[in-house]
Amino acid sequence: MTPHITQNEPLSFEKSSPGKKAYRLAPLDVPEVDAKALLGDAAREDTGTLPELSEIEIIRHFTRLSTWNYAIDLGMYPLGSCTMKYNPRVNEFVSRLAGIAEAHPYQPEALSQGALEVMQLLQDCLIEITGMDAITLQPAAGAHGEFTGILLIRAYHESKGNARKHVIVPDSAHGTNPATAAVCGYEVINLKSNPDGGIDVAALEAIVNEETAALMLTNPSTIGVFENQIHKIADILHAKGALLYMDGANMNALVGKTRPGDFGADVMHLNLHKTFSTPHGGGGPGSGPVACKKILEPFLPTPVVERGTDGLLHLNYDRPQSVGRVRMFYGNFGMFVRALAYILANGPDGLRQTTEDAVLNANYIRAKLEDLYELPYKTPSMHEVVFSDKRQTKNGVKTGDLAKRLIDYGFHPYTTSFPLIVPGALMIEPTESESREELDLFIDAMRQIAREAEENPELITSAPHSTRISRLDETTAARKPVLRWKGPAAGTPLTPDNSPAKEW
Ligand SMILES: *Cc1c(COP(=O)(O)O)cnc(C)c1O
Repeated sequence: MTPHITQNEPLSFEKSSPGKKAYRLAPLDVPEVDAKALLGDAAREDTGTLPELSEIEIIRHFTRLSTWNYAIDLGMYPLGSCTMKYNPRVNEFVSRLAGIAEAHPYQPEALSQGALEVMQLLQDCLIEITGMDAITLQPAAGAHGEFTGILLIRAYHESKGNARKHVIVPDSAHGTNPATAAVCGYEVINLKSNPDGGIDVAALEAIVNEETAALMLTNPSTIGVFENQIHKIADILHAKGALLYMDGANMNALVGKTRPGDFGADVMHLNLHKTFSTPHGGGGPGSGPVACKKILEPFLPTPVVERGTDGLLHLNYDRPQSVGRVRMFYGNFGMFVRALAYILANGPDGLRQTTEDAVLNANYIRAKLEDLYELPYKTPSMHEVVFSDKRQTKNGVKTGDLAKRLIDYGFHPYTTSFPLIVPGALMIEPTESESREELDLFIDAMRQIAREAEENPELITSAPHSTRISRLDETTAARKPVLRWKGPAAGTPLTPDNSPAKEW
């Protein structure tokens, strides 16, 4: 433990002392009303035991806690597959404009033309970027987009008389892909990757048949490699009436360069909170629009934004083949605003430049580290690079240890142990946000850590050393999480002596 006060902050419950208040109200000048009389059974009698602190104490408490956070505003966040890019401040400014932030979802259409215009314009931009024909902005995240996309596929097959039985998912896929297929009622067939980490086209051809609903494919794949047989793959599926679902989480490698709709994808999701800079981490909110080809358009969730003959935008609920709603109202509107601001501020050339810079940055890191870290797949990298810990494991140092040591150098760890096809993976995605100077700092840290792993493995396996809490037992934390604070019996005032921390 460091002696610094910000590093030793107890729980607010532990700081509590009876009678303290963080507010002072004017004397009551209206008749007091009994809560029970007003609310009936909805009035809570036992309000639990809440911490009692003064205003400065509670302000300091949360401000001190906030200094424990790592943030993209503080440094690089090379978490592969997550595209932790910077969200320009102007996006936040626009999303907070009163007319936008305070618009009510039940506002009449005639008074919502501006908000509908934002949605329509974002849809048009995303359709252009993906090369698709139609889109829904409703899903709240990538995984939710996958769910929606597979529901569209299911509805499409059902409309032809047979929902089909299985969905093929490569072994390099994000875990949400097989989970989605299973939740939508499909059997999941696992497809082993070829030696380059891509789709084994012959193996695919052997398993696709009239019971195949779709292949879920991430392109570029989770090892950051472009699927160069993509046209062939789409043809194999289409020949049997199966569809190609593209997991678009890695669109940061494609925007402005190539379009999934042009290389055969039938339906895909986008992660606005990855590719289009809206902030993520810490639980959202996110946004996972689903773009599709014409054949799937009738099944899109309701409502659909449409321009009427009166020139105004309308929400159309009258869609008999729709899979129904997947989320309340229209999706996470604030995310639409941020994504649209990002797209418009960049323009087509800016978006293309962004893609090129993201790919350049990943390849710069690859070139500067491949002499020290094992590169399991030599295929050209797109926007992320995947190393393995093979050379470090001979000294007992694993990817998770290297990642923890990175914290001591002031960086957020990269993604560890994913994708699963690379044992001991180090998955690094810098995004275009990083300057050459920042990349060099990261590279220096990674090179220094590789040397430490040779000379002093113990330093790495016991990292981090610079944080308030050192190495956690992550297995126990995941298997036996303590998610609820257990206080003293109801009505007992909190004091430092009955600190609940002592009961854990
Ligand atoms: C992030 C990601 C997802 C899931 O997206 P969420 O928005 O986190 O639900 C799916 N597939 C891939 C490849 C991803 O990187």
